[in-house]
Amino acid sequence: MNPLDTGRHMHDLISELFPECRSLSGNGVRRTLAVLKREIESLEVHEVPSGTCCFDWTVPDEWNVLNAFVIDPAGERILDFQQNNLHLLGYSLPFDGEIPLEELNEHLFSLPEQPDVIPYVTSYYSPRWGFCLAHSQRERLRPGMYRVKIDTEFSKGSLTYAEAFLPGEEEREILLSTYICHPSLANDNLSGPTLMAALWKWLATQRRRFSYRFVFVPETIGAIAYISRNFEALRRKTYAGYVLTCVGDERAVSFLPSRRGDALVDRVSRHVLRYAAPEYKEYSFLERGSDERQYCSPGVDLPVASIMRSKYGTYPEYHTSADNLEFVTPQGLAKSFDLYCRCLDLLEKNRVYQTTCCCEPQLGKRGLYPTLSMKGSAGDVRVYMNLLAYADGERDLVGIAEHIGVSAEELVPLVEKFLEHGLLRVCE
Ligand code: ZN
Repeated sequence: MNPLDTGRHMHDLISELFPECRSLSGNGVRRTLAVLKREIESLEVHEVPSGTCCFDWTVPDEWNVLNAFVIDPAGERILDFQQNNLHLLGYSLPFDGEIPLEELNEHLFSLPEQPDVIPYVTSYYSPRWGFCLAHSQRERLRPGMYRVKIDTEFSKGSLTYAEAFLPGEEEREILLSTYICHPSLANDNLSGPTLMAALWKWLATQRRRFSYRFVFVPETIGAIAYISRNFEALRRKTYAGYVLTCVGDERAVSFLPSRRGDALVDRVSRHVLRYAAPEYKEYSFLERGSDERQYCSPGVDLPVASIMRSKYGTYPEYHTSADNLEFVTPQGLAKSFDLYCRCLDLLEKNRVYQTTCCCEPQLGKRGLYPTLSMKGSAGDVRVYMNLLAYADGERDLVGIAEHIGVSAEELVPLVEKFLEHGLLRVCE
């Protein structure tokens, strides 16, 4: 399947999941995972009971919404959760009553600088109720009594997460993690889970040196709960990892390295991006914002990076109703899928090689001498000789590629040819 077909399928999946009201917990998350399970056969759902301690945090009560609306003095239903789930403040307390506009105003959230969009606002850990609306709508509200009804339920339930596993030849694992806690928002958030599904499908058909772990958690508390339950295994097995977020628009390509900044995943990502998306922008770990905050924290310290399109917090549509099905596109998603495939492929193929010959080997007698010599391409004999010259048992493939100024992707077929003829051996 070509990447654009994959991008189209991802966009369809985002459209299907878009209306669902997701949050840190609740049935919207479970329904989302049920749809993803159709895509990822080996997906397993786990529940962590409310009140469970996870390091310094406690799993909150489960939150579910039955209904929420506001009726104005003229009797018109002006804000309706059923019409757009962003209208309701995330983790809103229940409320039922009639209040004057002045009092209602204390519970309204809008963005004066972006008057036409509904902001996405949550209050997970400070109990309150509220509604979010376009500032232009807010300015039209007339004085008078407003009927407010918020039918939400807090219960001793659980936090839901899911994981899938694809075994490889080695026990070492590549960790792919994304979150599933935002309501009707496309780039941040649904682009991440749908890219996970696409990568699962692709990796399931590939020969895998590494094992792959796919994790779907509510952001922050879910990642902390997941790490607290799997700490030893994550520390022991994780070879490299990515947090998948904001991968659906076409405006930019962004890279956030791991906290260490020079882990293999950072070197591989930068190398791939330099050739496949030279316009990419690198951010600092100081500008982190998703679950790499947990995976990379001291004591956990996993090599986890993030390749994004427009990074969270940097685009005006972020956390508003404008982060919608038009903002993410099949093309934007396809490019992310392609970049991740290239990075995972290079992680698989990146090894340390050593030449088996003393002095330069004679390529001609093996039929390996390039018959077509073109300056600056892998057909250039210089590239053949440079690859062999730096295959010294110390540098890995990415290191050689960087040093000789050729993309590692171009070197892979040459390496395979040399291995076949016994001119190279794998050191690690
Ligand atoms: Zn977000």
